[in-house]
Amino acid sequence: MSGDLLFIPGPVTCAQEVLAAMARPMVNHRGEKFAGALKGVQEKLARIYETAGDVLVLGSSGTGGLESAVVNLFSPDDVLLSCPVGNFGKRLASIARTYGADVEVLDTEPGQGLDPERLAKRLRVDRKHKIKGILLTHNETSTGVQNHMEELARAMEGHPALRVVDSVSGLGASRLPVDELGFDAVVGASQKVFAAPPGLAFVAVSARAWDAIAKAKTPRFYFDFTKAREFGADGQTPWTPPVSQVFALDVALDRYHAEGAANAHARHVSHAAAIRAGVQALGLRLFGDPRYASPTVVTMVVPEGVKASAVLKELRERHGVVLAGGQGDLKGKIFRMGTMGAINRDDVVRALTALGEVLCARGHACDPAQAGAAAEQEYVAIAQAG
Ligand SMILES: *Cc1c(COP(=O)(O)O)cnc(C)c1O
Repeated sequence: MSGDLLFIPGPVTCAQEVLAAMARPMVNHRGEKFAGALKGVQEKLARIYETAGDVLVLGSSGTGGLESAVVNLFSPDDVLLSCPVGNFGKRLASIARTYGADVEVLDTEPGQGLDPERLAKRLRVDRKHKIKGILLTHNETSTGVQNHMEELARAMEGHPALRVVDSVSGLGASRLPVDELGFDAVVGASQKVFAAPPGLAFVAVSARAWDAIAKAKTPRFYFDFTKAREFGADGQTPWTPPVSQVFALDVALDRYHAEGAANAHARHVSHAAAIRAGVQALGLRLFGDPRYASPTVVTMVVPEGVKASAVLKELRERHGVVLAGGQGDLKGKIFRMGTMGAINRDDVVRALTALGEVLCARGHACDPAQAGAAAEQEYVAIAQAG
C-alpha cells in the first residue's frame, strides 16, 4: 500500500522495514526482548547526540519531551531566558510559563536565526546570574531556520544557566555534539529525522542537569527524569511504554547508523538544496535569511494572488503530495516542505513538478518542468562537488 507523498516536516515517510517492526507480536515490557530494544535505542541515540551522559526515552510526542525538560530542571519563579526564532520556540516559552517560570523573551524576527552577539550581550549584563535557564531551538520548523549552535554555545560560555535545546527537527540532520557544546537537556522525537512513527521523545541529560534536577521544585510525576533514569538502566521505563514504537525506532536507528551520520546529514542538505533550486525555478521566493537555511525544512513565500490553502488542498487531492502551510502569523504566507524521511530524488522531483502544475493552473506564471529539471541539476552538481 503506498500512501501520499509526505513532505510535511513530521511525521514523515517511514521505511517498510520500520513499519514492519510495529507489527511484531507484543511482548512483556519488563522482559528481555523489550529491554534489548530500549537499550539499543538509548545507545544508538547517545552516539547521535555524541554524549557519554544519559539519554532518556519517553512515551510522548516531542512537546512532552520539552515539557519534561522544563519540569525536571527548573523551579517555579526561576528566571528563564527564552530565545524563540519561531512558533516552536514560543511553545517552549509557554510551557515554562505554565509551570510558573519567570520567562524573559529575547525576540528574533521570523526568518532570522538567533544572533549570538545579542545573546552574549544579554548574559554579560546578568552579573548576578539571575537567569537560571536558557531556552533555545536548534532547528525552527515553523520558519525553516537553523540556528548556529556552536556560535550560540560560545556566546553562553561563562554563564552558569542551564541550556535547554529543542532539537526535535534538527537532531540527526546535522551534528549536535551536546557534551562538547555544553548543552544540558536536548530534546528529540521519533517522527522527524529518524523517520519512525510518532510517539517517542528523547532527552540527553547532562551531569550538571542532574545536580539541578535533584534540587528543582516543579511538581512532576509521569515525566520524572530520576525515575526514567533508574528504570532506563535496566532497559525499562517507569510506565508502560509504546512498545511497538520502540521496536520501530530501534530499526530506524539501525538504518540511520548503517547509512552513517555524515551521509544522513549530506542527504538532508542535498534534498534541501534541490528543493530550493526547484522552487526558485518556479519563480517563488525563499523565505528567511539564507545564512540560517535549515537542512530539514524549506520555506517559500506564497506568490501574490494565490490562496495557500487551496494550493495545498489541490496538491493533496489531485497529486497525492502533502506539503505544509505556515503557522501563526505566517499562515497563508508561506509553504513549508520537509526533507526528512524515506523519500528519494524522484519523490522530490514529483512533488516540485506537482507544485508547479497547481500554481500554473492558478495563474502563477511558471513552467512546472523547470522545477524538476532545476532540482535534478542541483543533485548532479552536489554529487560532482562531492
Ligand atoms: C515537531 C516539533 C516539535 C514537537 O512536536 P510534537 O507534535 O509534540 O511531536 C517541537 N519542536 C520542533 C522544532 C518541532 O519541529
